[in-house]
Amino acid sequence: MTRENGAPRIGVYVCHCGTNIAGVVDVEQVADYARGLPSVVVARDYKYMCSDPGQNLIKDDIREFGLDRVVVASCSPRMHEPTFRRACQAAGLNPYLFAMANIREHCSWVHDDVELATEKAKALVRAAVGRAYYQESLETHGVPVNPNVLVVGGGIAGIQAALEIADADRQVYLVEREPSIGGHMAQFDKTFPTLDCAACILTPKMVSVGQHPFIKLMSYSEVVEVSGFVGNYTVKVRRKARYVDEEKCTGCGLCQTKCPWKTDSEFDMGLGKRKAIYMPFPQAIPLVPVIDTDLCVYFQKGKCRVCEKFCEANALDFEQTDRIEEIEVGSIIVATGFETFDAERIPRYSYGRLPNVVTSLELERMVNASGPTGGKIVLEDGSTPERVGIVHCVGSRDVNYNVYCSRVCCMASLKLAHLVREKSGADVYNFYIDMRAGGKGYEEFYRRVMEEGTHVIRGRVAVVSASPQVPEEEGHLIVQVEDTLTAVVRRIPMDMVILAVGMEPREDAEEVARLFKISRSADGFFLEKHPKLDPVATTTDGVFVVGACQGPKDIPDTVAQASAAAARALAMISKGQVVPEAATATVDAALCQGCGRCEEICEFGAPIVTLEDGVPVSSVNAAMCKGCGACAVVCPTGAISVRHFTRDEILAEIDALAGVPA
Ligand SMILES: Cc1cc2nc3c(=O)[nH]c(=O)nc-3n(C[C@H](O)[C@H](O)[C@H](O)COP(=O)(O)OP(=O)(O)OC[C@H]3O[C@@H](n4cnc5c(N)ncnc54)[C@H](O)[C@@H]3O)c2cc1C
Repeated sequence: MTRENGAPRIGVYVCHCGTNIAGVVDVEQVADYARGLPSVVVARDYKYMCSDPGQNLIKDDIREFGLDRVVVASCSPRMHEPTFRRACQAAGLNPYLFAMANIREHCSWVHDDVELATEKAKALVRAAVGRAYYQESLETHGVPVNPNVLVVGGGIAGIQAALEIADADRQVYLVEREPSIGGHMAQFDKTFPTLDCAACILTPKMVSVGQHPFIKLMSYSEVVEVSGFVGNYTVKVRRKARYVDEEKCTGCGLCQTKCPWKTDSEFDMGLGKRKAIYMPFPQAIPLVPVIDTDLCVYFQKGKCRVCEKFCEANALDFEQTDRIEEIEVGSIIVATGFETFDAERIPRYSYGRLPNVVTSLELERMVNASGPTGGKIVLEDGSTPERVGIVHCVGSRDVNYNVYCSRVCCMASLKLAHLVREKSGADVYNFYIDMRAGGKGYEEFYRRVMEEGTHVIRGRVAVVSASPQVPEEEGHLIVQVEDTLTAVVRRIPMDMVILAVGMEPREDAEEVARLFKISRSADGFFLEKHPKLDPVATTTDGVFVVGACQGPKDIPDTVAQASAAAARALAMISKGQVVPEAATATVDAALCQGCGRCEEICEFGAPIVTLEDGVPVSSVNAAMCKGCGACAVVCPTGAISVRHFTRDEILAEIDALAGVPA
C-alpha cells in the first residue's frame, strides 16, 4: 500500500459521551495511545465531542495544526457522522477526510471489563487512523429536484400528506388502490378518545382532495414500476378500468340501484351487500362506480347492461381497458396502511365457527348509522344482545402471532364498549391483559367508560359453546377466562363476543417494499431511517413512510406523521436540489470486461453496461448508487471500487485490527 501525497496530519478526538463511554473505557489512556500512532499530530479527549465546544476543538485544531485528516472516537456514525463532517467542512477540510471509530455501541455498551474495553477502544482508534491515512477528498454535486410528489395510499395518512403539500401549491399525485379514498377511518362511526363522528372529520378532507387544483387523484389505480433516484423518479401507474367514464358520471347512483346482481360488501365487512356496479359507500371520493367484472353478468355471459339503460349521463363504457400512465416526481410518500389480524388463525376464539363472534372492524360497521344494520347492534337471529364481551389483544402481544402491541385495540375496545351500551343497552365486559391508555385524553376516556358501568376482567380467554349440563348457559356463547386478579377460572355467558383484532402489515407489504426499495422491520412494517431522529424517512432518499404501514398507530399519530413527511418533501422542493452521497461506486474502464454482473446484482439499477467503440463496458450512475458495494464484491476483475471504501482504506483498517479479540 502506498500513499502518494506525503504523510497526512491526523487529529484524533476521543469522546467520553458523559459516562456512556468513559464509564467503561479509560478515555485518557486511549487519547494518550493515539498520540503515538503514525501521522497523528494531536489527540485529545473531551466530555461531549458532539457539543459546540467539542466541535470547536476540532475546528481550531484543523486550523492551528494544519490537520488534513480527522478521526473521532465516539458513537455510531449513524448518529453523528454528519455532525463531524460538517465541523470539518466548516474549518475548510473536505468532509470525506474524516473517519469515525465507534467505541460506544461497539465497545463500552457491550463490555464491562475496563482494561479489555480500553484495549479494544485503542484498536478501534488504530483502525480508524489507518483508514484515514488513505482517505481521499470527494466532491459532491447537487441534483435538481422535480417539485411533484407522489402519495401512495389514500387513507387518512395519504389524505393528510397530500393536502399539506397541495395547500403549498405543489402538484400531488395521489394513487389509491380501491375505488374510493378514505381507508379504514371511513369505516368507523366514532373515533376515540373524543367520540367525534369519523365521517364528519374525514369527509371534508376527502372532498378537498377530490376538488383540489393541485391534487390529481388516481383512484382504482396501482403503482407498477418506479425508476430513477431522489429528486427524479419516473413512476408507472396502472389505471384499472372502471367501465364508467369519470368525466361523464354524475354519481347519481341509479346504475347501482337498478343492477340486479349482488354480493357481500367488502366495505361492510360482509355484513351487507353491494351490487355488481357499485360505489363502496355513499360518501365515496370520487363518487363514481366501478363494475366488478367477476360478478357482472354482461362480462360473464354477454347480456344484461341494465345499468347502461338507466344512465342518463351515458357514462357506461364497456370497452374500457386498464391503461398505464407515467408520471415524474421528486419524492414519494408511502401511506399504504394496515390490515387487521385474521381471527380465524386462533381457534380458541371460535371466530367463523360459533355464531355472534365478530371482529372489532365488523362491529365498527354495525354501529355505523350508515352501515348495514343502520347502526343497530343485532345478533344473527335479528335480536338485540343483552350481554356483550369484548376481547382485547387478539393476535397482538402473543408470541405465537405478533409479539408487538397494536397500540389502538385497548382504546378501540373501550370505544366499542361505550357504543354498544349506548346503542343496545347491553351489559358489556372487557377482557384485557394490560389496559393501555397512553395518549392525550386516553386515560380520561378509560375512566369515563368505567364510570358508565363497563366491567373489566383481566385474563386471557377462550370462547366456547354452552355446556348442556348447565341450564343457565343455554343459548349463549361462553367466555372462559382465568381471572388473573382473583386467580379464579370463570365461565361467563354472553350473547355476542367482539374480538379486538390487532393491526398487521398488508399482505403485499413485501411487494410494495421491493417496488419502492424500502426495508421492513422484524414485525413486517416498513422501516424508518431512524426510530427516533428520522422517523418518516427511509434508507432510500426521497421516499418517506407514514401512517400504519410504518407501524400500528392511531389517527392523531398518523396525521402528525403525515404532516411531518409532507414537510420533508416540501423542504426538498424549496431547496431545489439534493446532494447525493459522494461515496459511490466507480468503474476502471481499463479493467472492466463488460460481463454485466454488477448490473445483475445492483438493486438500485446504478451500473449499466454499454458498448464503447464496440466493446462492452460498465459505468455507474452516481445519483442512483447507494455505495453499498455489492457490485465491487461481484466484479471478477476488480474494476469496480467504492469511493471512501477503497481497498487501501479497508485493508489498512483490517490490518490494524489483526489479532484483536472481538
Ligand atoms: C377496529 C379499529 C378501530 C379503530 N378506531 C380508531 C379510533 O377510534 N381512533 C383512532 O385514532 N384510531 C383508530 N384506529 C386506528 C386507525 O384505523 C388508523 O390509525 C388509521 O386508519 C391509519 O391510517 P392509514 O392511512 O395509515 O391506513 P389505512 O386506513 O389502512 O389506509 C391505507 C390506504 O392505502 C390504500 N392502499 C393500500 N395499499 C395500496 C397500494 N399498494 N397502492 C395504493 N393504495 C394502497 C388502502 O386501500 C387504504 O385506502 C382503529 C383501528 C381499528 C383496527
